[in-house]
Amino acid sequence: MSLLEVKNLKVHFPVKHGLFSRVKAHVKAVDDVSLTVESGETVGLVGESGCGKTTLGRAIIRLLDPTAGQVLFNGEDITRLTQSELRSRRRQFQMIFQDPYGSLNPRMTIGQIIGEAIDIHNLAPNPTARRERISNLLKDVGLDARYADRYPHEFSGGQRQRIGIARALAVEPKLIVCDEPVSALDVSVQAQIINLLMDIQREHKLSYLFIAHDLAVVEHISHRVMVMYLGHVVESAPSKTICRNPLHPYTQALISAVPEVDPDSKRKRILLPGDVPSPINPPSGCPFHPRCPIAEARCKTEVPALREIKPGHWAACHLAGESGASGAKAPGPAGA
Ligand code: SF4
Repeated sequence: MSLLEVKNLKVHFPVKHGLFSRVKAHVKAVDDVSLTVESGETVGLVGESGCGKTTLGRAIIRLLDPTAGQVLFNGEDITRLTQSELRSRRRQFQMIFQDPYGSLNPRMTIGQIIGEAIDIHNLAPNPTARRERISNLLKDVGLDARYADRYPHEFSGGQRQRIGIARALAVEPKLIVCDEPVSALDVSVQAQIINLLMDIQREHKLSYLFIAHDLAVVEHISHRVMVMYLGHVVESAPSKTICRNPLHPYTQALISAVPEVDPDSKRKRILLPGDVPSPINPPSGCPFHPRCPIAEARCKTEVPALREIKPGHWAACHLAGESGASGAKAPGPAGA
């Protein structure tokens, strides 16, 4: 049994209009997404801003109520739990947010912020044990235990993200949804936080759902990567496989945008035309067809299923796996 199993999850938001707030349409932020995360595994979720990855992460831990589908955590469907039932399960799944400053209460000391989580779940029998637990958590994330009496504004962005990680760890979760945890940080600090997350994972046998728009970061930390486009998963594979041999034209374009260290590299940038279409009125057929450099007539009418093209490598493209649809052959319409 997987630690987390998401089945056919949908999150649709109503768009209301007029005097009587009639529902005119729905924003299909997440549309029929299925995934699994095993114990001790990191699954990376990558895609452009607005593709639905953050909404998916929030729906998985019930910060948002899904429209349809199931989220099985250790086999239990948490979409059906009442708020009070959910409260007792919540310590098993936590979230680390993108904005380390905005997610910390500026009026509380670091000790109070971390202690609040410990108190809610009664994880310290007395004040001495509570203090000791807070000190150990701060040390675990590379901070001085004396920082417990200070306030969030006294820390740098990287330190604040470490505090956010300590707060998440305080309740001994099994899964942490990391929502763009390094995208607001300097590049040098990003590497420190990624390494910290990997060390903590080994030590605490944690699982991560790691959401980011930067494929290079996701590849480094993830065992498996899923690529999202317009609310759908379009490709999923082990991280090295997806980065070396992407099958979906959208993934190929994303990878072509990752800066390369090798100055002799012959890789060409694939520039996609236009913007991501509106999820209120998504394109017919393959949602990627208006921007796809190799689209065919049937792509406008037939929705491609997410198929297992090679063992463990899934793609939602009519041409994936056919000769002529590989990364090398996919021409950029405006290849630079
Ligand atoms: Fe492109 Fe067609 Fe494949 Fe969609 S199904 S990614 S439009 S080739």
